[in-house]
Amino acid sequence: MRIPLIAGNWKMNKNPEQTREFVSAVKSKLPQSGKVETVIGAPAVDLEALVESSADTQLKPAAENCYFEDAGAFTGENSPKVLSEMHIPYVIIGHSERREYFHETDEDVNKKAHQIFKNRMTPILCVGESLEIREKGETNKWVEDQVKAGIKGLTEDQVSRLVIAYEPIWAIGTGKTATSEQAEEVCAHIRKVVEKLYSEGVAEKMRVLYGGSVKPENIKELMGKKNIDGGLVGGASLEPESFLQLANYND
Ligand code: PEP
Repeated sequence: MRIPLIAGNWKMNKNPEQTREFVSAVKSKLPQSGKVETVIGAPAVDLEALVESSADTQLKPAAENCYFEDAGAFTGENSPKVLSEMHIPYVIIGHSERREYFHETDEDVNKKAHQIFKNRMTPILCVGESLEIREKGETNKWVEDQVKAGIKGLTEDQVSRLVIAYEPIWAIGTGKTATSEQAEEVCAHIRKVVEKLYSEGVAEKMRVLYGGSVKPENIKELMGKKNIDGGLVGGASLEPESFLQLANYND
């Protein structure tokens, strides 16, 4: 049984005070983490506030990025070792904004995934195609290549704990959601790719999220799909009310 996961991605929004206010507004109304796990990915400058304010709540913190080395002369980067020492369980990697604006490659994403697991955290590995690739009918191949490159060399145990977020780039922050059928088709393909590379058991344990204009109005339909285990949510995770509606989609 895969536990559904609703993960917010605040991107470069909110300061530490707003972070504490958000947690205080949602904390008593979140589902039990055994029923629906809830995560917020926050900018590095807000993580201390997020960790402190969400301790003893059902909300888990995530970093939005990290480097693939634990320490050294890497000005401006964030250490996975320190994130782990801060008790942060998840790190988002390979988001399309990081790939596009910061030139993060599949190889970087793979190195980050290894380092995150080495530091006993879990990567939320993002993949997804552009509109051009979708229109050429090459979505499954593109996503398959990103998944294979991103998880290269990971062990069975690591992949069974991994979270993959399928986020079509054309649906991120555009208000255009993939239909639940389009989302399910690619999420099912991702699980098949992992099944072929590892085993059915590993693929059945691994969680696959959909992301791209997820909102309270469409979460239920998306969550009704067999291979969609949750959502990675940008815009609709910023307001306590809409995040709570997403987290409690089952009620
Ligand atoms: C995202 O940031 O990963 C995302 C999917 O954004 P939005 O929900 O705003 O489309």
